[in-house]
Amino acid sequence: MLADKGEWSGWILDGYPRNLTQAEALESVLEDVGATIDKVICIELDPEVIVTRLSNRRSCGSCKAVYHLVSKPPKVEGKCDACGAELLHRADDQPDTIRNRLGVYDKETLPILGLYESRYQVHKVDGSKPIDEVSADITGLIG
Ligand SMILES: [Zn+2]
Repeated sequence: MLADKGEWSGWILDGYPRNLTQAEALESVLEDVGATIDKVICIELDPEVIVTRLSNRRSCGSCKAVYHLVSKPPKVEGKCDACGAELLHRADDQPDTIRNRLGVYDKETLPILGLYESRYQVHKVDGSKPIDEVSADITGLIG
C-alpha cells in the first residue's frame, strides 16, 4: 500500500518478514537501495482472543466472501448473503490449527520484534479494540 501524499512516498509490508532470516534479507535489500524502515507497528492481542476471532470466521465456498459469526454474521445461517452458497469453516480457522499457527508465530516471528526494538521505533497497537479504532490507531501512526 502506498501512502497518499500526492506522490510516491513509501510502502507498507504486512505479514513479512516472518522470521529472522527474512528480516536480515530485508535489511540487506534495504541497505542496497539506500532505504530504511521508518516505523514498525505491532498489533497486540491476547492469543485466546485471536483463537476466538478466527474460529468464528466463515467463508463462502463459491464467491469467497468472508463472514464472522459475531461481528458480521450472514443473514441466513450457513448461507452466503451474496450468492447463497454454503459457508465453510476452513481448516485454517479451526481452533487447533490457529493455536498451532500461533506457536509457529511465537517461535519464528516473535524474535523479529526484539531485533526491530533494538534498531527502530516500534509502535504497539491494542488489537483488542473494535476494528475501526484499531484502523484509526494505525492510520494515525502512518498518516
Ligand atoms: Zn458467496
